[in-house]
Amino acid sequence: MVWNYMEEIVRNCVSSILNNNPAYAGVCRCEQCIDDIMAKALNNLKPYYITTKKGEVYAEYSSLETQHQAEVIREVINAVEFVTNNSSHQK
Ligand SMILES: [Zn+2]
Repeated sequence: MVWNYMEEIVRNCVSSILNNNPAYAGVCRCEQCIDDIMAKALNNLKPYYITTKKGEVYAEYSSLETQHQAEVIREVINAVEFVTNNSSHQK
């Protein structure tokens, strides 16, 4: 399968920001909002496609996560703020 590894990095980053940053404690965590946050962030980040077998360990790519961390965090925070301000179903 072909897979955008950036999705995994962004997914981890979204959950760590929402769970660890008190500023975002009130952000909606429904599937729709999380998907919107991920889509928004991923549109602003370069995809990183890998080919992989199901269940394979991605340790060899973990350095990518460190390498792109600052950029990913910046885009995820922008996306969280955008979705919080533009979500159609909350408030
Ligand atoms: Zn929501």
